[in-house]
Amino acid sequence: MTDLLILLMSWIISSISYPPPLASELPEVQFKTHVELRILICGNDIQCEKRDFGGAYDYKNNVIYLRDNWDIKRKEHHGVLVHELVHFLQYKNNKKFSCRAEMEREAYSLEEIWYAKNGIQSPNDPMFIQFFLMPWPCDIWL
Ligand SMILES: [Zn+2]
Repeated sequence: MTDLLILLMSWIISSISYPPPLASELPEVQFKTHVELRILICGNDIQCEKRDFGGAYDYKNNVIYLRDNWDIKRKEHHGVLVHELVHFLQYKNNKKFSCRAEMEREAYSLEEIWYAKNGIQSPNDPMFIQFFLMPWPCDIWL
């Protein structure tokens, strides 16, 4: 897993301008069931509970959570790790965003570029991604 994290991180920092972290600073990866992940991300938010999450970054503990069906041998599963590593870099570099959507836009953008560069069909809903990558002002997301 560490080799993969280093490989994906090298690609990320060659694609966007963040200083490279040390290998020892990279997040730990833990696996969670669908329900555990939803509870971690959503808490008591009923609306959020309808969504299907592939991963999450916990900045307090520097842990990336992935679904327990994530498979290192399936390259199409690596995209979610790219996404969460972008969140790690954002947090580590104290990058400020006007809203959550701006933060997600950077992570989804890199994730989608990574699929395209690797000839992998994105598992994300194309309508969702197209909408998410538009430079909407933050107040539209409230
Ligand atoms: Zn995200």
